[in-house]
Amino acid sequence: MERFGIYGGTFNPIHNGHLHLIRAACAQLSFDRLLVVPANIPPHKAAVDLASNRDRLEMARLATAGMPGVWVSDIELRARGKSYTVLTLERLRALFPECRFTLLMGADMLESFDRWHRWRDILKLADIAAFARNEGEESLLERKAALIGRARVVRVEPLPLSSTLVREKVRRGEDISDLVPEPVAAYIYEKGLYR
Ligand code: ATP
Repeated sequence: MERFGIYGGTFNPIHNGHLHLIRAACAQLSFDRLLVVPANIPPHKAAVDLASNRDRLEMARLATAGMPGVWVSDIELRARGKSYTVLTLERLRALFPECRFTLLMGADMLESFDRWHRWRDILKLADIAAFARNEGEESLLERKAALIGRARVVRVEPLPLSSTLVREKVRRGEDISDLVPEPVAAYIYEKGLYR
């Protein structure tokens, strides 16, 4: 049975913390494919700091180019409206009926997972692999994973970065070369994003 990792997020922009998670997931969970799935931004959401769907998709593609088995999917961008994970998984299940899905997420997302839309249905479609974002988060994360069931914590050295930090640094005119891969930094400057 083929194994797919599915990694959703806003990716506004994709950064080295995301890539660290992707590399660790590929190394430790032996997926046949890992889908990076940028979420659609609903038209009614305040968009001051938000790059367009096309820009977020392009930056995700630039950042993961050359990573074997990693695909960037526009499945949520094409669906429009709110990107509910359960609907994405149902669509993917219809496309790949024989595959096993693992949903990848950081600690903050696992923390709120049992408030997500139809979260119990998500667990029928996929298992979960969660990653600490900050030092010392793991025991809390393990407890949450045990409560949810079908969730496991993958042990990696955390890389505490966020898209918020990247956007703030760009706005302040500070260097972001240690936060995002070079082609993503170049794209941000070229397009004048997050000013
Ligand atoms: P923002 O700062 O704009 O809220 P973010 O950095 O949290 O963005 P998202 O695109 O919202 O990035 O995150 C997508 C997924 O990646 C989520 O599951 C999130 O928990 C996870 N994630 C983000 N940054 C890291 C990191 N540094 N380490 C591990 N997981 C991360």
